[in-house]
Amino acid sequence: MNKIFIIKWVSLSLIVSLQTIVWTGEGAGEKSYGFLFSPNSTSAQDKAQETKQENKQDVKAKQVPKKKRGFGDQNYVKDSNELQLSIEGPIDAEFAPIVGKLTTLFYECYPKLLKRFDNPKLPSAKHVKLRFRPAVNVPAYCVNDTITISMDWLKKHPEDIGLLTHELTHVVQHYPGGQAGWMVEGIADYARFCYGPETQPGWSWNRRLGARNKFDQSYTVTGKFLWWLEEHYPKSVDKLHQNLQNRTFSVDDFKTITGKEINELWEQCLKDQDKNSKSSPKSSK
Ligand SMILES: [Zn+2]
Repeated sequence: MNKIFIIKWVSLSLIVSLQTIVWTGEGAGEKSYGFLFSPNSTSAQDKAQETKQENKQDVKAKQVPKKKRGFGDQNYVKDSNELQLSIEGPIDAEFAPIVGKLTTLFYECYPKLLKRFDNPKLPSAKHVKLRFRPAVNVPAYCVNDTITISMDWLKKHPEDIGLLTHELTHVVQHYPGGQAGWMVEGIADYARFCYGPETQPGWSWNRRLGARNKFDQSYTVTGKFLWWLEEHYPKSVDKLHQNLQNRTFSVDDFKTITGKEINELWEQCLKDQDKNSKSSPKSSK
């Protein structure tokens, strides 16, 4: 190599390296959702409206480049590329960080919920709407692809953002009407445990099951039972879930899948819970 060629080569390498550093900086996760929530400029409702219009007009622009979305874990970026989250409500500066956490959680857990529970014959919504309301008489609820969340509840219980994973499970379930409510809520809490935040302090999942409980008690009680079931009979929760989606679920399905009556399974679950509580299903799902 002559001297001029070496100088050119070194200069080119430097430029490429600098571009790489700038690009990596743009992909940093901390500011990834800042464009959605800016309480000091316009109201959150205006922002939500702008976001809606932007979604319609400029879907392609939002999809590229992937690194600029910056949702942290690259494993999720590919799957969540076609997903959209709309925000609506009177979000103030105090509440904005909570909305940011919920947004991050959405892009982390919704692809996993879709991968595991989506019905290919009846695909779930790719565009989910979050409505924030100052006072709702429950922490959150879901109707079709819209999740309403109580701002009062989350301001008092900011550690409870895992409720979003529960509600997103309902979006993916979209079971036909009249299905067993205890299974609907049990699977939603089972999914919250598997795909929600790594730590969820204060959540009722952490309470010990006892003689006062029963498998059809719904929410975390049924959820913990389903988690035990899945550990001992892999894919059993998936089969029960599919039967609910196909409108064929009955309590006899537990025996069809495992060969044991549900009461017998429940008794075994109670005996095993201390053993189970030491490991996390997150490592295996
Ligand atoms: Zn629910």
